[in-house]
Amino acid sequence: MRQIYFDNAATTAPDPEVVELMARIQKENYGNPSSVHRLGALTRDIIEEARGEMASLLSIKSKELFFTSGATESINTILAGAVKSLNIKRIISSKIEHSAVLRSLEHLEKFFGIAVDYVSLDPLGKIDFEHLESLLKSDKKTLVALMHVNNELGNILPLNECAGLCQSYGALFFSDIVQSAGKIDLDLSDVDFAAGSAHKFHGPKGVGFMVVKSGNKIEPLLHGGPQEINMRAGTENVAAIAGMSRALALAVENSERRRQHISALKERLISGLQDVVPEAVINGDPKGIHTILNIGLPKEKYGKMLVFNLDMRGIAVSGGSACSSGVMKISHVIEALGLAEKIIPLRVSFSHHNTEVEVDELLNALGDMVRD
Ligand code: PLP
Repeated sequence: MRQIYFDNAATTAPDPEVVELMARIQKENYGNPSSVHRLGALTRDIIEEARGEMASLLSIKSKELFFTSGATESINTILAGAVKSLNIKRIISSKIEHSAVLRSLEHLEKFFGIAVDYVSLDPLGKIDFEHLESLLKSDKKTLVALMHVNNELGNILPLNECAGLCQSYGALFFSDIVQSAGKIDLDLSDVDFAAGSAHKFHGPKGVGFMVVKSGNKIEPLLHGGPQEINMRAGTENVAAIAGMSRALALAVENSERRRQHISALKERLISGLQDVVPEAVINGDPKGIHTILNIGLPKEKYGKMLVFNLDMRGIAVSGGSACSSGVMKISHVIEALGLAEKIIPLRVSFSHHNTEVEVDELLNALGDMVRD
């Protein structure tokens, strides 16, 4: 059956050019990048070329970019490293961060006695900057961890405003840029740390990066070899690193074209919804990123099986809920917004591969599934 894929915030289809490049590198460039012979030097060159290209795409210095196994590892390294090496005693974050941040914070609270404060959110899930400022008035050495784009709602944090506020109170600022890298303009000039994953921008899975600005040298998470200037031990995944760099280059190069195409699809879905399910609401900021739309559907009309029922019709979406040990659990983001009792959440996340026909098929399916 043809699959219609609207779950691009979970992961994206790798670009064919990326897959071809990786296959060639796997076959031909198998030398260990730490080896001193020619085969090793060739693979080392591939890694350093990727670092240079990605650093330039992210407008940072090459020495500020480190390759990891993905954003989860990057986030764990940054948060634990800031506590261990930079004397961070307190972290300000939000209840709608990704679990990689939330679980790391619990760990640091439990094992390192770090104080964690959560900034208030408005009903759309936007950060309350007045509350953030009041929390920043503290003597404790503080790190602020707030994501650039929320993976469920699509809300966009004004990165510069947040970075400026943190700077004015002497706090460090980390932003999870997983959902924004390669999709919207990024200005990391005042951000101290950032984390990303290649598979969210049509690159391979299991590879990502962290940005650690000069002057914020932190303890690594993994101990072993001297790879990544002692910041991340373990033999590098050379093909995946090259694939990530190529995917980011393609994403940045085509971002405006992709944005226009995806924005039109999102608009089509929003206006079609008004006919099919007039009671549907949009969760989160209506000015959120073009790639994500979180719809709140009336509970009385759509059962809990909404995502499964759409899947049966060949349409992949996310329900804003996670399956944990066979039990469906409503998303912590929807819960933090106080919406869990009111609506059934449906996250539709787009890529440039989606078409108008696919949007219409989703609308038809939703129309058919309304319970009378
Ligand atoms: N942060 C955000 C916002 C995400 O959407 C994800 C992935 O879902 C992650 C972090 C973790 O990325 P990965 O699973 O690639 O480590």
